Amino acid sequence: MKKLKYLMFLFTCLLLPAQSLADKVDPLGGTASSFEFSHGNVYPAVAVPFGMHAWTPQTGKNGDGWTYRYDATQIRGIKLTHQPSPWINDYGCISLMPVGSELKVKEADRAAFFSHDREESRPYSYKVKLLENGIWAEVAPASRAAILRFTFPQGTESHIVLDAFPKGRDADLVSLSVDLKNRKITGISRHHHGGVPKGFGLYFVVLFDQPLLNAGTWSESEGISPNMTIEGNQVGAWVKVNGGVVHARVGASFISLEQAERNLAAEIGSQGFDAVKARAKSEWEKTLGRVVIDGGSSEQQSIFYTCLYRASLFPRTFHEINAEGRTVHYSPYNGQIEDGVLYTDNGFWDTFRAAFPLMTLLQPNLDGQMMQGIVNAYTESGWIPEWQSPGHRNCMVGTNSSSILTDAWVKGIRNWDVEKGWEGLIKAAHNPGPLSSVGRLGAEFYDRLGYVPCDVGINESAARSLEYSYNDFCLWQLARAIGKPVSEQNKYRDRALNYRNLFDASIGFMRGKNSDGTWQSPFRPDSWGGVFTEGCSWHWTWCVFHDAAGLSKLFGGDKPMSERLDEVFTTLPTFESSYYGSVIHEIAEMVVADMGQYAHGNQPIQHMLYMYNHVGQPWKAQARLREVMNSMYKPGPALYCGDEDNGQTSAWYVFSAMGFYSVTPGVPQYVLGSPLFRKITLNLENGRTFTIEAPNNSPDHVYIQSATLNGKSFTRTWIGHEEIQKGGTLKLEMSKTPNFQRGTDMSDRPYSNSM
Ligand code: CA
Repeated sequence: MKKLKYLMFLFTCLLLPAQSLADKVDPLGGTASSFEFSHGNVYPAVAVPFGMHAWTPQTGKNGDGWTYRYDATQIRGIKLTHQPSPWINDYGCISLMPVGSELKVKEADRAAFFSHDREESRPYSYKVKLLENGIWAEVAPASRAAILRFTFPQGTESHIVLDAFPKGRDADLVSLSVDLKNRKITGISRHHHGGVPKGFGLYFVVLFDQPLLNAGTWSESEGISPNMTIEGNQVGAWVKVNGGVVHARVGASFISLEQAERNLAAEIGSQGFDAVKARAKSEWEKTLGRVVIDGGSSEQQSIFYTCLYRASLFPRTFHEINAEGRTVHYSPYNGQIEDGVLYTDNGFWDTFRAAFPLMTLLQPNLDGQMMQGIVNAYTESGWIPEWQSPGHRNCMVGTNSSSILTDAWVKGIRNWDVEKGWEGLIKAAHNPGPLSSVGRLGAEFYDRLGYVPCDVGINESAARSLEYSYNDFCLWQLARAIGKPVSEQNKYRDRALNYRNLFDASIGFMRGKNSDGTWQSPFRPDSWGGVFTEGCSWHWTWCVFHDAAGLSKLFGGDKPMSERLDEVFTTLPTFESSYYGSVIHEIAEMVVADMGQYAHGNQPIQHMLYMYNHVGQPWKAQARLREVMNSMYKPGPALYCGDEDNGQTSAWYVFSAMGFYSVTPGVPQYVLGSPLFRKITLNLENGRTFTIEAPNNSPDHVYIQSATLNGKSFTRTWIGHEEIQKGGTLKLEMSKTPNFQRGTDMSDRPYSNSM
């Protein structure tokens, strides 16, 4: 009987397809967001991992950063998008919309009702029913091309409208033309919100597989036109078809129309919709399959893979393969066609913390190519980027590119030009750039005084100074790793301690400082903005990623520092927001979370919980981390507790759910937390596997009682990148009660500069 049961089990395993990880992803998670309050500020991106073009259903008006809102009732088009965030907005867009028998072209006229009950959103496809005319619209992606399928009621002459979007500021006119006989639309979208040179455009070609009964163009100002070519500020095209099933194959390029055709031929060709969809799905299975989890609830598994999906979209590929098979790219920095790779749509202020470290762990080869892309951006523009979309954008503070490049190098990633990168980093470290977010604003003060004063007309001066200090630490690590002269190493080693200049020991907070060395007054620890960036001193006091032990000394020891860590949660979520003139969404999100001053919805404090390890209280990190994983990430459209930010807030969850986190990028270590699952298997790129096992893990067994690494006793609260890359098993005995001894010895604590 037992044998029969076993045989039946085997038989069932053979019949059932392997469980799809891609189908655990909910791309609508995080879309219940608005200007005032963010649950992620994301759209359901239909794309291949790190693909060049993504697609999304569009509910907002053209140019509205909230491109898909969960509470919307109408869809205006299926849109080709590159938007990294609503705050940065989109560029190089087109949309396609099926509109039934009556031709309606303008976005307000053609909008059609939809329902989440008649919608299927996957990473690799999207399908929706337009309710008043019974049309199904679908899209499946490749990297630089896609296929759309429109299913019209049989025997109803119908239309498809293409919208090439309003042209960006100072852009050339939008132009397009229709070739009725060859069933083809070609054109150039000129949509952008900055970060592009003159002449920028997205070249596109759309091929239909049904004869076109009629076609023409339209403009927002003049309406429908029978002309087959058009040029203007906001124009589009329309085609009339016989109904039934119509496919539109779309290729797009930043280089040329010819390259758009090449991208389409190379990536889609004559393949059918289901084949393109299946291939995109298998790409996602491969990417998501780098981490396999066992245990936890189905909701937790869905959140985990949704987060891993979000951490696998940006930075997007920006290079293309030319006629000779060479990798080339349109440079958004100089407008030329350049050799080599480029990736874009990323703000390093957000993503240096966990999104890039996750890449170093799961996708080291791709991470190295991305580093080369950063170096290429320096070669083409003279500046290492900090916020790209697609070129330099003026957003956020710090020179956190130094963290990203250093972290890759110290973790053994070598497929990029580190010497050229070093040149760019050193230039950025000592010079203000063409935008306040490129290079170092206030470099002359920082180099002279060791901080940027708050009374010299430079905003967010304390935040800048603290990040510069950590960035200098990274430069020190890189200088050592690539063998720069000791004098140069020591320069950055010393500057890594500059964070000390802004700690006011009399109150136990980081604080703005005047150029004469006196403190900025008055001081409120809950005052947002001013000398800080999108946060207050409750958040920025922890901006010492590289030297928690040094910070502890400033506090007067581990006890006062741990008490201040505790106070983050026990203090009411008060705030002062006059710097912004209103309550920005990050403030609202902190208050609503009801965890005191802990503002997980924004980046500055996201590493803080792990710092309990550095002051010898790892059990507090373990309990709080589980609490945050459970309370700040929810299944459904309100998934996140603030902006997702190009994989960062997702990568926090992926790392934390695996049981460790990159507190100090630039040092090849991860700090232990408390894993969410019973078993996590990392399928590493080098062919080895690393497993985290926590067999008695449960919602109330959140504390690490003891641990072994490859069968040997393991007392540390950190694990090395190399230890993971070698493969093996970290086994954790979980318990209902804390172990107040484990991991508390100085020798077991994670890296600190001052240890
Ligand atoms: Ca943010």
